[in-house]
Amino acid sequence: MAQCAIKPDVEFVRELQETGGESLKKCYQCATCSVACPLSPENAPYPRKEMVWASWGLKDKLMGDADLWLCHNCGNCSDLCPRGAKPADMMSAARNVIYRDLVEPTCVGKLMSSPSGLPVLFAVPALLWLVVWAIRASIVGAWFPRTADGRIVFGQIFYGDYTIDPIFMLTFFGALFLIGRGAVKLWKSFKPEGKLAVIGKQKCWLWHLWDVLWDEVITHKKFSDCEAGPDTGKTRYNRQFGHLLLVYSFCILAFVTAVVAGGHWIGKVWPVVSIETPMPLTFPVKLLANLGALMLLAGLAVLTVRRFLQDKENHGSSWHDWYFLGIIWAVALTGVLSQCFRLADCVTLAFMVYYLHLVFVWMLFAYLPWTKLGHFVYRTVALVYVRMYGRS
Ligand code: SF4
Ligand code: SF4
Repeated sequence: MAQCAIKPDVEFVRELQETGGESLKKCYQCATCSVACPLSPENAPYPRKEMVWASWGLKDKLMGDADLWLCHNCGNCSDLCPRGAKPADMMSAARNVIYRDLVEPTCVGKLMSSPSGLPVLFAVPALLWLVVWAIRASIVGAWFPRTADGRIVFGQIFYGDYTIDPIFMLTFFGALFLIGRGAVKLWKSFKPEGKLAVIGKQKCWLWHLWDVLWDEVITHKKFSDCEAGPDTGKTRYNRQFGHLLLVYSFCILAFVTAVVAGGHWIGKVWPVVSIETPMPLTFPVKLLANLGALMLLAGLAVLTVRRFLQDKENHGSSWHDWYFLGIIWAVALTGVLSQCFRLADCVTLAFMVYYLHLVFVWMLFAYLPWTKLGHFVYRTVALVYVRMYGRS
């Protein structure tokens, strides 16, 4: 009989338990969860095997497991688990532990993994933008300046050309670079279970990527598949609508940012396309920006209420869940409020809230590889990977 030696990583089990998988040891491996999961394929079921690996401390097995990233955390498996082992929470905890160390510098991942790291994560951009503010205030001659005609223009302090644009460009593309490295590392770490032979002509990975983006982003179809899962006897709060609002609002706001930045920079050589900020409220780009902001707030409200209403007995919310919701709330509220204070002519409050807005936007971009947005990228990588092995 073939034998295999198992080297349990006790420290990994402890980390999983501390990160939200505290009930994993209750599992008695009945496999109800794998049957209950609406996304789990018949020939490669999850999350039972992940529960076994987690319980035995098989970190390497979990790290090479693409299925871990396919879970949508709908909680059907936890609702139907007869032991209250909360497999959905364990899957989430395992992902959080893995992407904490996936991307360099891992010290940021460690800071991101608990509330105790938040002061440092906040202090970095707070100091950065305070230095920018102090330098510009000394040049302009006031911390809360007005233009010659009495208007409040944030660009007087946070000047786009030399502060906002270069700082955010560097931060955003730096985060994209890191997340790209993380995605490549994750892809290389995946090990298919058993021996796989893919026969026949294969679709190019780009087509698989398009299919994944259609199902996961454009239509959020997988969320409906989750909702259509087995009757668990529990109230289900649909996540598709809230997520779609969030995704489409991000797209609108990214488009508006690109148009304003393009208008600003291209306008220097081709004045006809120049866009001056602050834009009038009735300007089409401004209308679109405000529509995006309202959709963002609505999506956040739906997802936050759902998280509060969900059954606490079977579903936990990890620090990562709350961090991501919290930072988007902070970005949205400070963005809307800074505009309101500017329009209400409250110069001190307008500048202070706008400063906080810049701090939170920086946090959103810079820490992206360790947040749930990073998870979205890693899940896309895993989905493309399994589709290339013939799974859907
Ligand atoms: S997690 Fe629950 S449902 Fe899944 S195998 Fe363990 S005891 Fe069974
Ligand atoms: S949380 Fe939902 S998608 Fe994830 S394993 Fe459980 S049933 Fe499947």
